Amino acid sequence: MSKQIRTGMVLALAVAALVCGQTVVAQQKEPDWSKVQIKVTKVSGNIYMLEGQGGNIAASVGEDGIVIVDDQFAPLAEKIQAALKELKITDKPVRFVINTHYHGDHAGGNVPFSKAGSTLIAQDNVRRRLETGGTAGNGGSIKMDVKPAEKAALPIITFEHDVTVHLNGEDIRALHFPSGHTDGDSIIFFPKNNVVHMGDDFVRYGFPFIDVASGGSVQGMIDAMEKATAQLPADVKVIPGHGALSNLDDVRAFTNMLKETSAAVQKALDEHKTLDQMKQEKILAPWAKWKGDFVNEDAFIETLHNSLTGHKGEFVKHN
Ligand SMILES: [Zn+2]
Repeated sequence: MSKQIRTGMVLALAVAALVCGQTVVAQQKEPDWSKVQIKVTKVSGNIYMLEGQGGNIAASVGEDGIVIVDDQFAPLAEKIQAALKELKITDKPVRFVINTHYHGDHAGGNVPFSKAGSTLIAQDNVRRRLETGGTAGNGGSIKMDVKPAEKAALPIITFEHDVTVHLNGEDIRALHFPSGHTDGDSIIFFPKNNVVHMGDDFVRYGFPFIDVASGGSVQGMIDAMEKATAQLPADVKVIPGHGALSNLDDVRAFTNMLKETSAAVQKALDEHKTLDQMKQEKILAPWAKWKGDFVNEDAFIETLHNSLTGHKGEFVKHN
């Protein structure tokens, strides 16, 4: 996990927050987009991973054209298109963009890509949340207002459970896992090339952001990782939502941490401890190596507490 990746994630959220006005996230300036470089890594066969600012992009590049999974931020769309062209494999455009979820650091490029002729595909709830906007957050200290997206950002093709894109000789399959990082996450499989893009159900920046306010939950994230891991070949190459190319051992270590930390918070809840007590007693100290710039121990205690108790923050009414 590099410093750059963590900074990128924080910046991504800060940008989302700045665009949306109100924020409790650090007030950082918008990145200088002209300085962002798109790094392209060959993962396997005709599958590439693109890193710039925001979430990782997977690309299937071949004779039928290009399919990308996620599209980072709008100001980077031209650089992303140029980086794909630079591979000199095809002159054909990006025909399809699959969004792993609705967050701006993954779907922020939807408008320029759709205007350039790409067809946007995502799970039903991605379109719904882009259309309405709302609040993203962990039900506590992480909170961002999300503005409704313009029409060109909305996926044209949506699905409830799964969809398959047959291109470049591969059956590229997006499979929805409910209520993990958000309520609209998909994991995308490239079976011929033995690659998977996990979206933000699996990240490498430490404790994950679980968007409890957008229907996410720690239990859903654990279920998604266990179900996905069970059906994947042992040597599959794993593209995380953020961070370096990974393997199933990395996913298992992450899943174990989620299970152990949520069990620790559940135990504290069973003992009728309050959120403040859990923070004071530093109940996640044994997992401190997972704390990051974005989600520290206290923020992850909040996340787990709110996920396990169904506390979404903004919906709480005091009658
Ligand atoms: Zn996300």
